Amino acid sequence: METVIEVKHLTKTYGETVAVNDISFVVARGEIFCIVGPNGAGKTTTVETLMGLRKPDKGAVSVLGLDPQRQRTALAQRVGVQLQEANLPERIKVWEALDMFAAFYGRTIPWEPLLAQWGLAEKRNAFVEKLSGGQKQRLFIALALLNDPEIVFLDEITTGLDPQARRATWDLVRQIRDQGKTVILVTHFMDEAQALADRVAIIDYGRIVALDTPQALIDSLKREHRIVFTTANGFDAQSLIGVNGVVHVSQEGNQVTVSGGDTLLLHLAMALTAQHVMPTDLHVERADLEDVFIAQTGRKIRA
Ligand code: ADP
Repeated sequence: METVIEVKHLTKTYGETVAVNDISFVVARGEIFCIVGPNGAGKTTTVETLMGLRKPDKGAVSVLGLDPQRQRTALAQRVGVQLQEANLPERIKVWEALDMFAAFYGRTIPWEPLLAQWGLAEKRNAFVEKLSGGQKQRLFIALALLNDPEIVFLDEITTGLDPQARRATWDLVRQIRDQGKTVILVTHFMDEAQALADRVAIIDYGRIVALDTPQALIDSLKREHRIVFTTANGFDAQSLIGVNGVVHVSQEGNQVTVSGGDTLLLHLAMALTAQHVMPTDLHVERADLEDVFIAQTGRKIRA
């Protein structure tokens, strides 16, 4: 695995505030690496340091073998950075924005196919301010891809989008990775990190509290599987005790919750079938990255 980003003992303070507190990680070429955590955790400071916009107080940062502070111009040719709307001039059209940014870079790819790929072909003459939230977000990502970068930095790309637009954006992020690019995705949404990340660093109060693949982090909780279902009147859930894989059974009216090991669903289904019980509204409650955050910090991410 080729390392494209290396962060060693990075610390950054603003006056009394320790924004980033001795963090270290590496990113491999071609992965979606998520930095997730609550507002104020130090995500943007970390990423801005990687882009050469902030100087570390302590520690060292290397991106594509370059020092982002001292070799910022060389680095800018090889990384893509997603803008905020405020960075664009007022009353600018989509094609003008692309043209303007193409002029900044030494090397760009043709932007017409890029617009088509991001579903904006028919918006080329529209004013940026008239685009929907999802269209604007896609334009900013297209702008970040204009110099055919090796690494793309994406910060809070789905804030304010509806669920459908969010999912469409997730698909496009996967496509960027599938083109061989490395994606650094900053988000405060745990579900986004879980859906997209090849590896995720959970950051809280300037420190990395967990770093691995989402699945490995969830598995590390060693949480039992929980299955919840509803049955017809008269079913006695205690009859499930002793079924292979079942560790705990509880019942509230017609709703039954069963927890246990890996083979729980299979054996539960067989036991219910044998008793001619037809469960309704059966669902499996699985641990997720939010549970990992709670386990590591003792609180919910939104608290
Ligand atoms: P995140 O991106 O996770 O929301 P930030 O990196 O923006 O976190 O901020 C981390 C901490 O540093 C916060 O407490 C924030 O208020 C503070 N901070 C960020 N930028 C500045 C700045 N330019 N001056 C002073 N404090 C800052």
